[in-house]
Amino acid sequence: MAYKITEECISCGACEPECKNEAISEGETIYVVDPDKCTGCVGWYDTPRCVEVCPIDDCCIPDPEHEETKEQLLAKWRKLNPGEEPAPGTY
Ligand code: SF4
Ligand code: SF4
Repeated sequence: MAYKITEECISCGACEPECKNEAISEGETIYVVDPDKCTGCVGWYDTPRCVEVCPIDDCCIPDPEHEETKEQLLAKWRKLNPGEEPAPGTY
C-alpha cells in the first residue's frame, strides 16, 4: 500500500530527502506523496522511512485508496529503479 501524508503535516521537510523513490514533494499547504512512486519503502527498507523521520504521530499513514500487495509494490519498485536489486528483507 502506498502511504499518504495527512493534514497534521507541519511542512518540516524532514521526510522529503529520506524517500529514495523521490515520492515526496512540497505541496501547496502540506507535503504530499505521489502514489505512483511510493512503494511503502518495499525495495529499500523494512519500515517506511517517512514514518520514522516524521516528528508528528500518525502523519504518514497507509493510504486506503491505494491498496497494493507486496508483490505489486515490488513490481512498482523495479520499474522505478531499473537495473537495481531490492534490499533483502524489504519485500
Ligand atoms: S513509505 Fe517510503 S517510498 Fe513511500 S513516501 Fe514514505 S519514504 Fe517514500
Ligand atoms: S516529516 Fe512529517 S511533518 Fe515533516 S514534512 Fe514530512 S510529513 Fe510533514
